[in-house]
Amino acid sequence: MTVPRLALRGLTKRYPNGLLANDGIDLTLARGEIHALVGENGAGKSTLIRMLYGLEQPSAGAILLDGEPVRFDAPGAAIRAGIGLVPQHVQLVPSFSVARNVVLGAEPQRWGWLRHGAATRAVHALARRYGLAADPDALVSTLSLGAQQRVEILKALYRGADLLLLDEPGAVLAPDESSALFAALRALADAGMSVLLITHKIADVLDVADRYTVLRGGRVVASGRSCDAAAAGLAAHIVGRPLAPAARPVPRARGEVLLRARGLVQATGAAECLAGVDLDVAAGEILGVAGVDGNGQSLLARALARMPGVVLVTEDRLHDGVAPTLSIAENAVASTYRAAPLSRHGVLDLDAIDAATRAMIDDFGVAATGPQQAIGALSGGNMQKIVLARALAAHPRVLVACQPTRGVDIGAARFLRARLVALRDAGAAIVLVSGDLDEILELSDRIAVMFRGAIAGHFRGPGLGARALAGYMTGARRQPQASARLDAPFVDAGEAA
Ligand code: ADP
Repeated sequence: MTVPRLALRGLTKRYPNGLLANDGIDLTLARGEIHALVGENGAGKSTLIRMLYGLEQPSAGAILLDGEPVRFDAPGAAIRAGIGLVPQHVQLVPSFSVARNVVLGAEPQRWGWLRHGAATRAVHALARRYGLAADPDALVSTLSLGAQQRVEILKALYRGADLLLLDEPGAVLAPDESSALFAALRALADAGMSVLLITHKIADVLDVADRYTVLRGGRVVASGRSCDAAAAGLAAHIVGRPLAPAARPVPRARGEVLLRARGLVQATGAAECLAGVDLDVAAGEILGVAGVDGNGQSLLARALARMPGVVLVTEDRLHDGVAPTLSIAENAVASTYRAAPLSRHGVLDLDAIDAATRAMIDDFGVAATGPQQAIGALSGGNMQKIVLARALAAHPRVLVACQPTRGVDIGAARFLRARLVALRDAGAAIVLVSGDLDEILELSDRIAVMFRGAIAGHFRGPGLGARALAGYMTGARRQPQASARLDAPFVDAGEAA
């Protein structure tokens, strides 16, 4: 039997506060293999990666490279052993060229002079050898996120890595860019590299990985070959129980238009703008707004939220969604406490607030000790449940939900999506702004794709897939005079593909 490039034997990490984040993990990664490490938030994926990259020390167990035990006291030691980390958020210098970023800190030098020509040639050679399209002279600030991620990969390869760790690389990419990245990873694996890919997306496992390991609560709960895995089974392993069936949009009779916007324009000085957006949303429908981050979706959400009667679920719950040091109760009633039944004649009824908060906690299955716990101590998923519960407590007829499940584990995400569907079925008009295309496709009755501040395509119909929308998200395709008005034409699945 050949010796694997990487083997973990009983790898264990207990943090100083006593938390057992990795508990006896066994995993092997062969040369030429792509291995997906999956699990929900808090499963222990980052801890494992940090140990492999010398950022944390194991409490017990062993890391073996080519059968030899290793110990990395710092990232430098891991890099020398051939390990490269591609971080989730690129850490490049925007004002430097691609070549300069790739060689940064490991510059080819001659008598103390940086050799630009050598750097450019080296980047060219690596890019060609591994099929990673990159222009060495381009400024990083001009590149798409996908291209920047390729630069991070080149950077690792330049330092001699043959074992790449990728931390949630698909999270920030448009579908086309994800496919390009996965094709590049496949080419790298074919050239003999080993790839450990952290992801929480089941589709990534099935699309690109040869094998997978599922972590839950710091332990390996499943592993195997991707070709033998099924999406439903993987999901159940990830959350530890079978999932409720996904919400399905049903064709429905549309009610009266509850939200109408015409010619929304906003210049910000930055690249993001609104360049004349028209949209309608009727009672009982969800309008999904898709797009690569930064194309005006969040400006649109905020513009709509300024209209009377519109309730907003903000995209940045930690920044402006909750006050993290205040209690769950204080956060939960932040928009309703002034009126009966929570206050009477200007006096807060603390018992009523306590009872209302307890009801939200029960109804939404929030894992919390009680209404007085600081909301900042909750996990992202539980915090978001309170944020949505609070929005729904106002009985909105029009809701704008911005990234409602971003950074939330899949169990909580399912739950939150089901609540949005229930609100729609009860007759509300919903605008769903999401960077998660699967979510958009699953929930939306109509879909508007935004590109550079405008609506580039308007879609309806069963059978729409991510591939059909991708060209519109990147600006490659555009419907003339597209808008999301109810009387506007739309593209259906057949035409879009
Ligand atoms: P994942 O990457 O799968 O989301 P993490 O490895 O970040 O999971 O976290 C695993 C567990 O370890 C979580 O419960 C997290 O709160 C905890 N944890 C992470 N880093 C630390 C730390 N430095 N000290 C204490 N606990 C930590």
